[in-house]
Amino acid sequence: MVGIDEAQFFDLDLTNVCERLALHGTRVIVAGLDMDYLGKPFGPMPYLLSVAEYITKLHAICVKCGQLATHSYRRPATDSHAQIELGSTDRYEARCRVCYTEHA
Ligand SMILES: [Zn+2]
Repeated sequence: MVGIDEAQFFDLDLTNVCERLALHGTRVIVAGLDMDYLGKPFGPMPYLLSVAEYITKLHAICVKCGQLATHSYRRPATDSHAQIELGSTDRYEARCRVCYTEHA
């Protein structure tokens, strides 16, 4: 078995690697965020989701209303529009679709 975490940070080649491993009998378990802070597909995740045999979507709890959170809201603090800001986990909040949209 091979486990890969934070798959959203890998490049698109990860999909080929996972498929080759699976073809040779290796059980591959991949975890990662499906969307970035803009609500857009994140890295190789849409490709991995399309070739996976099984998908389990886990959700956090929205920090605003307590419903299931599907989005990562990034609080504005700088002028940065980079997709990835490492080491700034305190700037991200789990939010449901409604709370994400109201405050985005
Ligand atoms: Zn909410």
